[in-house]
Amino acid sequence: MRAAVITQLNSPWEFKELADPVAGPGQVVVRIQACGMCFSDVLVHRGHWPVQLPIVPGHEPVGEVVELGPGVTTLRVGDRVGVSWMQRGEGRCVHCQSGRPVRCEHTQTWMDLGGGYADLMLAWESGCTLLPEGLSYTDAAVAFCAGFTSMSGLRNADPRPGERVCVLGVGGLGHMAVQLAAAIGLETVVLTTSPDKAEYARELGATEGVVVDGDPGKALAEAGGADIILATTTSADQVAKVLSGLRYGGRLVTMGVTGPLQVEDMMTLLFKQCSIKGSTHNNRSDLVEVLTLMAQGKVVPRVEKYPMAEINEVLKRVEAGQVRYRAVLEHD
Ligand SMILES: [Zn+2]
Ligand SMILES: [Zn+2]
Repeated sequence: MRAAVITQLNSPWEFKELADPVAGPGQVVVRIQACGMCFSDVLVHRGHWPVQLPIVPGHEPVGEVVELGPGVTTLRVGDRVGVSWMQRGEGRCVHCQSGRPVRCEHTQTWMDLGGGYADLMLAWESGCTLLPEGLSYTDAAVAFCAGFTSMSGLRNADPRPGERVCVLGVGGLGHMAVQLAAAIGLETVVLTTSPDKAEYARELGATEGVVVDGDPGKALAEAGGADIILATTTSADQVAKVLSGLRYGGRLVTMGVTGPLQVEDMMTLLFKQCSIKGSTHNNRSDLVEVLTLMAQGKVVPRVEKYPMAEINEVLKRVEAGQVRYRAVLEHD
C-alpha cells in the first residue's frame, strides 16, 4: 500500500510503499476513503506528541472495512466506518471495567497501529464506528475529530433546556459547536474577532454573532451572558477573560488551550458558583450523536477537500490557520 510517512520531525511527510496490514484478532483492515487533518497533526509533526518514528499519521480516517481478523463479530466486510483516536482500552482498569475505555491510561490509538493517510489502515474493531447511510465519507471524517470534540464539550457542559450557549471562536471546532448547540435547540451566541465570521455564525444557526474588539467577557455580559461557554480558541488569554460573561451556575468548557490558564476574575467563579472544565473526545455516544445529526442534515461541516498527494501543502495551511473550516484529504 501507499502511505504518507513521518520519517523525521519537522520535515515533509514522505510517500512510501509499505506492506499491506493484516488484521489480527479483534482487528480489521479499512480501505481509507478520506482522512481529515487538524492542528493535532501539526503537533505530531512538530514533536509535541510521543510518537515512535517512522509512523503513518492521520487520526480522522473513514473508509470501508475490507478484512476481518479472527473473532470480529460486530463488523462486516463492506461496512462504512470511521476510526476514533482512542480505539481500545487494555480492559482491566476501573475505566475499562466501567465501560469508558476512552479514559484508559493504556488506550490503543493510531500511534500504536498506524494512521489514516494510507490506502489501508489497521484498526481495532472497538475503535470503529459505523457511518449512517447518506453521510459522505468526506463530511464523516470531520465528525471523528472536530465533531466528536465539540459534541463532548457540549455534553460535558450538561446543557439544560432553555439555556444559552456562547461559542468562543469560529474555527474547525467552533463552526461545529455552533451548529450542534443550535441543533439540540439551544440559543447560541458567538464571539469572534472577525466580522465575516460573526455573519457566518448566524448562517450556521447562531442567534447572535458578536464581534469582539477587546474583552470577550465584557462583550458577552453586554450581549446577555451565557449559561455555557464552549471555548474553542487556543488563546488562554481569551478563555480566561470570557469567564466573566457567565451567568449564575455557568460552565466554561475549554477544548483548545494547552498552555497555562491564568484566571483573573475569581469573583465570578466564587460568587456565581461557576466552573471551568476541560474536554476532549469523551463518550462514544457523543460521536454517534454527531454522526446522526450530520446524517439528518442538521449539522454540515464546511470542508476544504484535497487529494492525498497534497498532504504537505495542507499541513502548512493547517499550521498557518488558513483552513476554512476543516481540511480533509481524499483518495481518488
Ligand atoms: Zn483532529
Ligand atoms: Zn483500561
